[in-house]
Amino acid sequence: MAATHLKEDEQTRTLREVLQRDWGYTEFRPLQREAMLACLRQRDSLVVMPTGGGKSICYQAPALCVPGTAIVVSPLISLMKDQVDAACTSGIAAALLNSSLTGPEKTQVMRRLRAGELKLLYVAPERLMAPQFLETIADVPISFFAIDEAHCVSQWGHDFRPHYRMLSELRDRFPDVAVHAFTATATDRVRGDICDQLQLRDPEVLVGSFDRPNLQYRVERKDRLLGQIQRFIDRHPGESGVIYCVTRKEVERVAAALASLNYSVAPYHAGMDDGARQKSQEDFIQDRVSIIVATVAFGMGIDKSNVRYVIHAGMPQSIEHYQQESGRAGRDGLEAECCLFWGGDDLMTWKRIHEAQPPDLRQASLDALKRVQTYCEGTFCRHRALVRFFGQELEEDCGKNCDICQAELQPVTEPLVLGQKILSSVHRQEQRFGPEYTAKVLVGARGKRILENGHDRLSTFGLLRSEPKEAVVSWIAQLVEQGFLLKEGEFDVLRITAEGRRLLKGEVIPRLVVGNLASDNDDPEPSAGRERRRSPATSPESWAGVDRDLFERLREVRARFAAERSVPAFTIFSDSALRDMARQRPSSVDRFLLVSGVGRKKQEDFGAAFVSEIVGYCSETGVGVDVSDEPTPLRPASRVDSESGSARKAPTSNALQAFPFFDQRLPLAEIASKLGRVQSTVLDYLEQYLAFKNSSDLSPWVDEADVVRVRGAIEVVGLARLKPIFLHLEEQVSYNVIRVVIAAERARLGETADSQ
Ligand code: ADP
Ligand code: ZN
Repeated sequence: MAATHLKEDEQTRTLREVLQRDWGYTEFRPLQREAMLACLRQRDSLVVMPTGGGKSICYQAPALCVPGTAIVVSPLISLMKDQVDAACTSGIAAALLNSSLTGPEKTQVMRRLRAGELKLLYVAPERLMAPQFLETIADVPISFFAIDEAHCVSQWGHDFRPHYRMLSELRDRFPDVAVHAFTATATDRVRGDICDQLQLRDPEVLVGSFDRPNLQYRVERKDRLLGQIQRFIDRHPGESGVIYCVTRKEVERVAAALASLNYSVAPYHAGMDDGARQKSQEDFIQDRVSIIVATVAFGMGIDKSNVRYVIHAGMPQSIEHYQQESGRAGRDGLEAECCLFWGGDDLMTWKRIHEAQPPDLRQASLDALKRVQTYCEGTFCRHRALVRFFGQELEEDCGKNCDICQAELQPVTEPLVLGQKILSSVHRQEQRFGPEYTAKVLVGARGKRILENGHDRLSTFGLLRSEPKEAVVSWIAQLVEQGFLLKEGEFDVLRITAEGRRLLKGEVIPRLVVGNLASDNDDPEPSAGRERRRSPATSPESWAGVDRDLFERLREVRARFAAERSVPAFTIFSDSALRDMARQRPSSVDRFLLVSGVGRKKQEDFGAAFVSEIVGYCSETGVGVDVSDEPTPLRPASRVDSESGSARKAPTSNALQAFPFFDQRLPLAEIASKLGRVQSTVLDYLEQYLAFKNSSDLSPWVDEADVVRVRGAIEVVGLARLKPIFLHLEEQVSYNVIRVVIAAERARLGETADSQ
């Protein structure tokens, strides 16, 4: 037991180091550690995390810690390319194999694969399962298989891909290689299907929370849609956003309207020719265009992390779709807004689209739409309502990140009596009519059908005479949302549930609120009052301390690099990394590494350019540099320790061999030749020797002048970290020498290596 824990600690430490070194992240996101450990331990796994949860690092980081190449299966060329670009930008040996490569490029990738130079290889399923390719990789050491977008194996998923089915053979062909499946899809049925299809063996199943706390949800009834969209996007000038429309025609209409108002916008739908569609997508990904107006055909291959809002200009076809589509906002973990505009005509539009389906599927589609409608009409915290659809519960309402929580809807005074009035009317109408009709009866409208049915003689007729009909319709929707009523069939016939009967008996009290009413629509200038209420109450925390002008300048630097390398901007740095730069404002390449999202390779490649922009900006404007207070913690101690060498405990056995020579005070060159090692290694042993013997005597080994210089630097910048000393000495003294002097200094000051 203890041994397992020890091993786990060690593995976790290794993973954390990689996370810091290559990605510049200091903490795991929820379940990332567990998912990575499953990869290290060769235990099959199924990892379900919402979009933006950070799935890719779950297999990328462990791939770097084990021998061999990890094979990543991914469904789309564009997705693969972005992932590989991002990995390479972080200095990770990754490549892809797909039909977009030229012959020589393919040969080159295969050569690197065979030579063991790749830690990650991305392939499409059809390529992986091609007999010739399978043969090739039979003698390549494979660390594990990672199946991205694994729901594509299931025909119950929203994106079934027949080629994914072929992956079921992997298990038979590579019985000893673990398979790890990743998806954002939440339904149980799809999860089960993934495990079966991929023949996962006793998989570790990790399911994350489906809540996306950084997203602001709101729902509005459609009413002069273009104006509503415009008001919304005006709150996000220059930021990336997606507008989803139900039909191609709507895409064209909205895109053209926005273009005529000079917004930076491009359309995207399956009816456009390939070239034009591709261009729209690339312009958006590369930040050349801010807004993309699209059908749901857009997005599957997009992992652009800095989408700041997603608008639905009509109802999505299911809650699962909504979760996926709206989830494309805020993948970087920063705040983002999701707004759904809906109206009754959306239902009709979808019904038309679904007409071609076989009857049972059509019914399923309709049920899915009804659930979306229930969400739209809902009066509960949107975060809570959404996760409930996936069988999860939140401990409390979000409190501030949705229209419901912000609006502080006012409860009605007598919810029980009101609920009973409505339900008893449904009962007296023999549960054969829909919400509209029922509301009319309750407000006492003398329509033709009501008179024909004799419902003007019911005791419930006109019982809610003093209320607007829309209010009654909304209450009926609220009773449906809370499960007291059920809508059935094409005409939404209302039925009373078992829970509803309890309500009639007065055993339960519904939660009914005033608000969310269509009467808002009659307001000739609806936006003004609403807008105030709906704009976020405060500037979000993630902007705290960020110099926004500097942020904009850094975005330009990022765009330059992206263009130079023809990669999407977000693979250079995420928005959250840029914000952290504009918050900390590092004045040296060394301090640049303290920014969250800056790993070793990015420091090397981009540090100088960003730091020079920062220093230039700060001296122009008088803004302070090197702010390192709270929001972003400094690197945790482990990193500092391993840099300064103080974490070192017992000497290594190799070092011990050198100790007798140090006792004799032989020169470094001589010891090196006796041991068959290079001098820098011997300096490393010397450091261990000094620490072990607690000795500060460096006399024959280090030039006295260097000792004096390093000591001087230590006086100024301290001895906790090597880098500041190295930089202080203008990179003139090697790290090894600095380490040795530090070891001697520690001994001199009476610090043992472990007391740090
Ligand atoms: P998913 O594939 O689950 O949608 P990604 O793998 O694209 O999510 O990750 C979303 C974003 O979160 C990326 O910008 C990624 O770099 C970032 N990210 C992932 N893990 C962490 C972490 N531990 N700390 C900070 N950012 C992270
Ligand atoms: Zn809420």
